[in-house]
Amino acid sequence: MSPHDNSAMQAAAPAVLDRDCPQCSAKHTDAISLSHGSQEWPMVRCNRCNFIYLTRAPRYEELSTNLAWEKTSIIEDERRLADRPVSKRFSKATRWRMKILPRRKMPELLLSENAPAGIVVDLGCGDGGMMNGLDEKFIPGGVEISAELAHRANENFKTRGGACLHAPSVTGLRQIEAGTVSAVTLRSYLEHELDPLGVLHEIKRVLKPDGIVLIKVPNYGSWNRMVTGRKWCGIRLPDHLNYFTPRSLKDMAKIAGFKTRHGLTWALPTSDNMWAVLRHA
Ligand SMILES: [Zn+2]
Repeated sequence: MSPHDNSAMQAAAPAVLDRDCPQCSAKHTDAISLSHGSQEWPMVRCNRCNFIYLTRAPRYEELSTNLAWEKTSIIEDERRLADRPVSKRFSKATRWRMKILPRRKMPELLLSENAPAGIVVDLGCGDGGMMNGLDEKFIPGGVEISAELAHRANENFKTRGGACLHAPSVTGLRQIEAGTVSAVTLRSYLEHELDPLGVLHEIKRVLKPDGIVLIKVPNYGSWNRMVTGRKWCGIRLPDHLNYFTPRSLKDMAKIAGFKTRHGLTWALPTSDNMWAVLRHA
């Protein structure tokens, strides 16, 4: 596909899925509508379990395996900025997938101090660059949906005895033997995941008895969100599908069989993001 082949870009426009509550499966039609969403991407609070989510989602899975689409969509990004706001938003989502947006340095210390030696799996690991500072007691691993990035990550991890699986997260995790993983890291990941509870269930299965899960997500309970409303940096329609508060993250983790710990400064309402460490309950 040529970068300037507009008809091909049109043909590759992502399809949209309807979503019910990703935590309790209650129908989205029964949920309470929230003003932070849009007509195109409605945001709701589940009537049954209070989880906040988008009721529609772009179908990224098929498209993100297509490198041509990723590359061309970024090239096209500038050109289409003015008159195609929806396409622009999809391109931003792709940028996130390719880890072009700035991300904080991995909290290597936290992993070193809390996780047993062995395999660390980074979900949505991009090209694997985030794992470069990993302590020597760990073997880097990852699951990545983009074929090209998964290949690059795999080449990177191979030098340290690890591997990257090219798959959606749940499918990738299913290929890993039960009880063999020391830590799973989800940094700026779970808010994008179509099936966050399904992912946590699979993590529960692959994690060693003393293994840990390290999560960083935007904190919907932050004061900044309450003040800035729809302009809050954690609201990205439609690439942020799930909106966690410290309470709702704990609730979902509990359903998946985990207990949640926040460090003293990890989930303050003064911060736009929160960190959590999960262990087997
Ligand atoms: Zn629910």
